[in-house]
Amino acid sequence: MGLFKQAWQCNFKEKDSRDKRQKLLKKALNQVAKAESEAKLARIALEAPLTTVRGAAIKRLDDQAVLARLALTENDMLVRGEAIRQLTDQVALVQVAATDPYAPYRLLAAKAITNDAVADQVFHAIAKGKGESHVAKEAVGRISNPGLLLDIAQNAYYPDAAIAALESVSDQSVLAGIAKKDGDIYQYGKVATAAVARMTDPKLLTDVAQNAQICYARSAATEKLKALCSHEWDGCKCKICGEIRDEQHDIERITCKRCGRTLSGKALLEAVRNLTDQALLEKIASTGYDLRMCPHGFTDDVRMIAMEKVQNKSVLSIIANAGSGFMNGRYVGSNSYSIRIAAAMKTGDSALVERLKQDSASYAQQYDADMRSGM
Ligand SMILES: [Zn+2]
Ligand SMILES: [Zn+2]
Repeated sequence: MGLFKQAWQCNFKEKDSRDKRQKLLKKALNQVAKAESEAKLARIALEAPLTTVRGAAIKRLDDQAVLARLALTENDMLVRGEAIRQLTDQVALVQVAATDPYAPYRLLAAKAITNDAVADQVFHAIAKGKGESHVAKEAVGRISNPGLLLDIAQNAYYPDAAIAALESVSDQSVLAGIAKKDGDIYQYGKVATAAVARMTDPKLLTDVAQNAQICYARSAATEKLKALCSHEWDGCKCKICGEIRDEQHDIERITCKRCGRTLSGKALLEAVRNLTDQALLEKIASTGYDLRMCPHGFTDDVRMIAMEKVQNKSVLSIIANAGSGFMNGRYVGSNSYSIRIAAAMKTGDSALVERLKQDSASYAQQYDADMRSGM
């Protein structure tokens, strides 16, 4: 030990100016650049107070024992990263690739492994396990062994890694197996639908459409079947895949007998105008459209037409009196005042008509007041 500190041993003090820091660092780095012996570089790499100086020494260091020690035990991220970059010792690289707590460093070490079979195993572990999703996905791209890729597609922790591995899987029954499996609906759901996207076998797709655990996989398979089907139309419905097209419906009253679809828009208004079936007219007149509970209800314009034709006074009276609620155990949506007043007028209950008109007016006033105070 000399009396004076060497340049590489410098450290910054709180009071040091930026200028002084730059000067100290420059001197230290100069010394690292001129160092000739491995022993000196190793000492700097292990002992220098400034990480930049340690990093510079590591960049020039070949001593694999020292590099391995730093790569496996150093806590400073920058220093450890430099050591892994310089490391060529295969045993140490495999160890780093398996144990470094930082996933990108595991990947870095794996990339330096020269034996293909060993590298495949190491990349396989990174691709399948936890760490970082993008690292796992990149590791998949480095694997060529089909068996390992299949295992990742089926068992990877990250969906993106499993999906990347799926690109090498084309066996239809294997894909069906992946698509049918259960798992987290959002995480595994992505994998299952990616498997469906690679399927082309109609029989297996039908199986997935009917039996997959995850609903996204079932609907993806149904869509895929439709896309693959060279439809055989029976009016509005395909005999093979069951897809429905909007032509040649077989309408009975307001519903298609073949596909079960209820008419909408102008066609529905026209059909209701021609209806004579009282039970159906009563149902239409009393079933309001309420998105929260009854998305199958009818809009006011359709209900008005039906109401005009309803003869049963007690049904009309229920509609006139009910703000919203159930009728014969069935939720009938909320009744607007215009519907209730129209029903009351048909029952001939003029007192009820008056009361509803007043309620409606005060409701409108209250609504106006609420809107104004809310502004
Ligand atoms: Zn079809
Ligand atoms: Zn139809």
